[in-house]
Amino acid sequence: MQPVKALTAYRPYWAKRFGVAPFLPMSRAEMETLGWDECDIVLVTGDAYIDHPSFGMALVGRLLEAQGFRVGIISQPDWTSADDFRRLGRPKLFFGITAGNMDSMVNRYTADRKIRSDDAYTPNAEPGKRPDYAVTVYAQRAREAFKDVPVVLGGIEASLRRIAHFDYWSETVKRSVLADSKADLLLYGNAERALVELAHRLAKGVSIDEIRDLRGSAFMAPAGWTPAPEWHDAATRHAHDDRALTYVRLPDYETVKTDKLAYAEASRLFHLESNPGNARALVQRHANRDLWLNPPPIPLSTAEMDYIYGLPYARAPHPSYGSAKIPAWEMIRFSVNIMRGCFGGCTFCSITEHEGRIIQSRSEASILREIEEIRDKTPGFTGIISDLGGPTANMYRMACKDKAIESACRRLSCVYPDICPNLDTDHTPLIHLYRKARAIPGVKKVLIGSGLRYDLAVRSPEYVKELVTHHVGGYLKIAPEHTEAGPLSKMMKPGMAAYDKFKRLFDQASQAAGKEQYLIPYFIAAHPGTTDEDMLELALWLKRNDFRLDQVQTFLPTPLAIATGMWHTGKNPLKRDPGSEEVAVARGLKQRRLHKAFLRYHDPKNWPLLREALKRMGRADLIGNGKRHLVPAWQPAEAQTPLRTVPKNSALAKRHSAAKIKRSR
Ligand code: SF4
Repeated sequence: MQPVKALTAYRPYWAKRFGVAPFLPMSRAEMETLGWDECDIVLVTGDAYIDHPSFGMALVGRLLEAQGFRVGIISQPDWTSADDFRRLGRPKLFFGITAGNMDSMVNRYTADRKIRSDDAYTPNAEPGKRPDYAVTVYAQRAREAFKDVPVVLGGIEASLRRIAHFDYWSETVKRSVLADSKADLLLYGNAERALVELAHRLAKGVSIDEIRDLRGSAFMAPAGWTPAPEWHDAATRHAHDDRALTYVRLPDYETVKTDKLAYAEASRLFHLESNPGNARALVQRHANRDLWLNPPPIPLSTAEMDYIYGLPYARAPHPSYGSAKIPAWEMIRFSVNIMRGCFGGCTFCSITEHEGRIIQSRSEASILREIEEIRDKTPGFTGIISDLGGPTANMYRMACKDKAIESACRRLSCVYPDICPNLDTDHTPLIHLYRKARAIPGVKKVLIGSGLRYDLAVRSPEYVKELVTHHVGGYLKIAPEHTEAGPLSKMMKPGMAAYDKFKRLFDQASQAAGKEQYLIPYFIAAHPGTTDEDMLELALWLKRNDFRLDQVQTFLPTPLAIATGMWHTGKNPLKRDPGSEEVAVARGLKQRRLHKAFLRYHDPKNWPLLREALKRMGRADLIGNGKRHLVPAWQPAEAQTPLRTVPKNSALAKRHSAAKIKRSR
């Protein structure tokens, strides 16, 4: 593999002399204003171009610009022909293709496969501005536009579709996106290291077909290809063979396409090779070719995180959008991303598959500087920072106590089934950061909007007190996801004991601060491993605790997640022998509706469905008009309409698993 080289250690490309663009150009006219006759790299994205580090295309664009390359952006192109892909001319080095910040299918469809009415990443939330399976379509059009220009895939859609994967929307096992898109290379995960190295090598005239050693890269190769003759298949490896020269062969596409047990085994093997400290290369045969995946990228250092987040972003949507509102931008314009990665390992979530489980944190100084920039430059700032967060609010600077142990570790989670004794759960750096952030002149309040890992938080009552006293705007969202042991074990989530402990600390601190504040718990309906009885118990818990959920989410099988493997196969890829455990799956629309209805037991529209289910389950004793009953025996006349299954939530709200809660009093 390529040795680790700091992002700042490269000699800039000659075009650095053109300086920093106010915005990366989206038209020939802007290129001419910058004095460019061509772009070195053209990035194609399914999102609107917002020049802010929360948007992947802006982040990698500014990074490549800082390395000296002239980077143009083609945002939300017309994909019906190759014309729009010629908008900026022929890129000198390569096309970088992404679907955007979300998988295009998650962006466009609800968990019940209904088309959403809006798109949070598009001006005025206009839907229909990107194709289904956008990364594949864009790659094909880019290739048509300029046949000899290398095409490189990146971003979440490419990352999560890098091997053969179950696609919920077509209900098929699809090939790796590399095979379908015919792209030259795929960079998965946070790809800064690989991208910078790739750009500099291509600039030196190296052919993309020769670049086979980048961590975090994947490509199609002739069947049986290995980087060198001494590489071994793990299945035939001897004890004296070098592990670093070993690859793991996954069951091939043609097999996993139809054989569910083989699919579950592929999922198990894939997730085992996720720690950059010990992961081996993965190979998967697709017809007469091999898909080769190099091990995951080495995480960025704090200095490198500061470098990429400190690049000269305009911190605004491209001026061509005029006064159009872009919901994703409105949501994050006053928030700061303080870290990446998550060691939780929740099986329904794809963050670990994309960002890895080693936390990469920015320095305190870099974060505080960004808050000052928001204060000074972002129009509309009223003194409220809406979030200091990341994938999880309170994993900032947390890590394994020992680098050598971390490097050798093969666990999928540092906090499940219990918090690992080697995990340093010190919240002090975060407490200090909060204190300094809210002391910045002009900052009135710093809220924490990212989801909190409460089993970690209870280890630091001081943190909970700090958070609750100063950083909660009335409601705090946390995600137990379920109350019952069966589904929780399939989610790899902690039990309710930690929730209860956190709630006690939360209530005490709120009372001490003289504030009326509430927890917002999120739950998932129809997650693999959930029976009707589990949902009933959850509904009874909600009723006992006086919760009336307004919006709820149903499990959405996203590509590559372990829970998606369970959903598709009915087996458990968490087991050494995935076939040894059958997993209950609420697959049909009717059962999914029922599970969702249990979460909204208080909605009269759901009562007929729930009454029918309770009778079938032998729990008719829960139907009646008393306090101990879940649903009444009567039905109001206006609530006879069919159950509405599509919550009118935005794509971004979906991403953050939004669930508004009303607490009954
Ligand atoms: S040893 Fe424990 S803390 Fe360290 S990486 Fe493994 S699970 Fe995480």
